[in-house]
Amino acid sequence: MPLKNVLTILQRGCFRLSKFCQKTVLPQSRMNKLGPWLFLLETVCLCYIGTNQIIPTLWTRFGSSLVVMNQVFTWFLGAEILMNWLCVRFVTSSFQPSLAQIQLLKQDESPEQSTNYMMSPVEENTLRQRPIAEKSQSSSKKYFTWSTCKSCKHVRPARCHHCNICKTCVLARDHHCFFSGNCVGYKNLRHFFVFLFYSMYATVYAFIHATAYYCVELWPHSSALEILPFVTFIRNVFGQSNYHTGVLILVWWGLGMFLVIGAFQFIDLLLEIPEGVTAYEFNSGIELEDSRTLMEKIRAIFGKYWLLNFLVPVHFIFPPIVDPVNWPTIAGIKRGPDEFL
Ligand SMILES: [Zn+2]
Ligand SMILES: [Zn+2]
Repeated sequence: MPLKNVLTILQRGCFRLSKFCQKTVLPQSRMNKLGPWLFLLETVCLCYIGTNQIIPTLWTRFGSSLVVMNQVFTWFLGAEILMNWLCVRFVTSSFQPSLAQIQLLKQDESPEQSTNYMMSPVEENTLRQRPIAEKSQSSSKKYFTWSTCKSCKHVRPARCHHCNICKTCVLARDHHCFFSGNCVGYKNLRHFFVFLFYSMYATVYAFIHATAYYCVELWPHSSALEILPFVTFIRNVFGQSNYHTGVLILVWWGLGMFLVIGAFQFIDLLLEIPEGVTAYEFNSGIELEDSRTLMEKIRAIFGKYWLLNFLVPVHFIFPPIVDPVNWPTIAGIKRGPDEFL
């Protein structure tokens, strides 16, 4: 079986498992409040313990310049992760229809009931370009048409989905990110990708350092069972182990959790981008008839100079090169959600 198919099956299995956990173990609203704090606590603890304790202990024997290099690298990773996390949290892709869009849809549905709003020729021209008519006649009409959101009570274009947590409709909605407490859509998907890219790198880097530190410094002086967080907690409460070991074990387990969740999200994105689909579409088995090249799909997420995003957030200077309302390069869908389910 090709690697891509294995990854796809694994990814969809994890997606369904996370949905099941959200329903049974931790409700979405609670996870949305807890997630950002968990992320901030883990990041601050890692940067602090890493640069003050672990890096000097492990690297001093190889020279002070290597200590400084590792410390600077750690703070660079921390700054990139935090910058992009802030962008994922505060850059929103929510959709509010203009009067013209509401008017045009009413005309399409019932011309005799249309109101008297007058569109400018440019406005009408742009809106008329949205290929509702052709798309609604194809087999993909259920998915690839404008519809009315039952919660927001307004019209929304194709690929715009409602989020029950953010309580808004989001353009090209990918998924809701519980670690940032916001929806990932067409505007902030680039920040989510860069955030995951650096987070993955930082997690592996920190995991190797934390494991080496545990083996060199803590293992000879502590019990093997102390690697289990609840044992460490109980020993900490009864004063049988030091507080420092307890924090390190918790951070180590936190790293493992971020590594597993982040890896699946990152694999998901790497599979989605070449297909030009969102996480919802990918996990529902929807395939698009998309005429864009790979580079056009990348620029639709990252903007003109896509590599620049890995240094500084530039969404306001170089916005995504895509029309998230009309989707002129997409002719419809090859395979729909009904066929998958
Ligand atoms: Zn809505
Ligand atoms: Zn959301």
